[in-house]
Amino acid sequence: MTHVFDSLFIDGSWVRPSSSQRIEVHSASTEELLGSVPAASESDIDTAVAAARTAFDDPTGWSQWEPSRRAAAIERFAQELEARSEQIVQHVSGQNGMPVRFGRLTEGAVPAKILRYYAGLIQELPTTEVRKSLVYGSTEVRREPIGVVGAIVPWNFPQTLTFFKLAPALAAGCTVVVKPSSETVLDAMVVAEAAAAAELPPGVLNIVPGSGRTAGARLVSHPDVDKIAFTGSTEAGRSIAEACGRLFRPVTLELGGKSAGIILDDADLATTLKGLFAASLMNQGQSCYICTRILAPRNRYKEVVDGLSDLVRSLKIGDPLDRSTVIGPVASSKQRDIIEGYIAKGIAEGGRITAGGGRPEGFDRGWYVEPTIFADVDNNATIAREEIFGPVLAVIPFTDDDDAINIANDSAYGLGGTVWTSDVDRGAAIARRVQSGSIGINGYTMDHGAPFGGVKDSGMGRELGPEGLAAYQQYKSIYLPT
Ligand code: NAD
Repeated sequence: MTHVFDSLFIDGSWVRPSSSQRIEVHSASTEELLGSVPAASESDIDTAVAAARTAFDDPTGWSQWEPSRRAAAIERFAQELEARSEQIVQHVSGQNGMPVRFGRLTEGAVPAKILRYYAGLIQELPTTEVRKSLVYGSTEVRREPIGVVGAIVPWNFPQTLTFFKLAPALAAGCTVVVKPSSETVLDAMVVAEAAAAAELPPGVLNIVPGSGRTAGARLVSHPDVDKIAFTGSTEAGRSIAEACGRLFRPVTLELGGKSAGIILDDADLATTLKGLFAASLMNQGQSCYICTRILAPRNRYKEVVDGLSDLVRSLKIGDPLDRSTVIGPVASSKQRDIIEGYIAKGIAEGGRITAGGGRPEGFDRGWYVEPTIFADVDNNATIAREEIFGPVLAVIPFTDDDDAINIANDSAYGLGGTVWTSDVDRGAAIARRVQSGSIGINGYTMDHGAPFGGVKDSGMGRELGPEGLAAYQQYKSIYLPT
């Protein structure tokens, strides 16, 4: 069954697009057409921004509501999303190949959970504080919603990454225009249906898929947008940062990664390998924070390479909609070409493949790539420096803890990371010295109550936690005479 949408979600209604351009999405596992949606033109982006602007500027509207009133609307939205959770999971997995067993835990569950977290936080945290002035009288310090937000998201965790932005923005009192990635549009349309069913006020949330860069670029530079929140590639992030810089427009950038998983000499390898799957190969390696450089101590190097190779050979490859599948296809033929190009480069630069390296047998349709382990990789090799965004791990040897930290930090990126050890204090001491926005000991489980983001080329600003709410607020000081 194909899903065909003929309108965009703007100003609380389904609105005909201004052009006849469409975005078609195909199944990552069967290559069949799954559906299509209108592609927003620049003029549709203008209409969506105008709706968000009007809604934000309404003196009795969303931005001025008491937090408890906004929280009640957000709770209705969360309930409508929960009612559509399986539909959303099926769309995401069909489009980008994410195995449903992971999709249900992330794409199906996280949106409602994060909405509720921020609905709670906006009612708990004071938005106004009166301080005694250091000079004269007192000062009312206010945290006000920043305004109209343009949210641009990628295809790998389309729902989770949308709600990392949408939930704090809505809770803060902002209005939002979301531009989903053209690879994952059907799930975004279901979010629009949920917003309509929840009766969010018109203009508070607008969803406008666009193909290529045109729609996103228009949103970034639109004069009526007050903040941009972007997740995607470092290359696109750099051009968005340049545009926002010229406009003095606040921007949050969650970009690429090439994180290190440091296995210390005292690690229990069986437990480590179990945890490394989630930390390194989740979603076919199409996750920004994952550890695609595995740093192994020289005295246990062979043991780690053999263990990892056995692990990836044992992973069940299959239809992402099948509950037992652990490795699905990658998101698109373009993505598979990129990954295969990196595998060829890894071989050309002297890497030794110990598992995978090709396309799995028996899959003549769909964009499948075998999970692949490269041993004997130098940290200067292309596959150790560039983000592959596929199931390809490079195992790099190190001599001692200092050497491991130096290799981990010798990267343009700084997003995630892990340390594997039987001594948590030793692991934490190493984690403190790794240059990254977040890092886990003996696992990597993102905590939605704590800030997430990157350093260096992995981006700037933070999402999640109270810090993620502050990113949608701005301060105002009112100097009072007494
Ligand atoms: P992408 O940068 O190609 O596209 C991301 C989104 O930005 C899409 O919606 C796209 O249409 C839009 N876009 C692209 N260029 C634009 C421009 N110049 N102006 C405005 N909008 C533009 O990335 P992708 O291929 O969809 O996603 C994969 C990338 O995302 C990887 O590099 C990955 O590491 C990164 N990512 C980062 C995080 C994080 O939290 N740090 C999370 C997930 C993915």
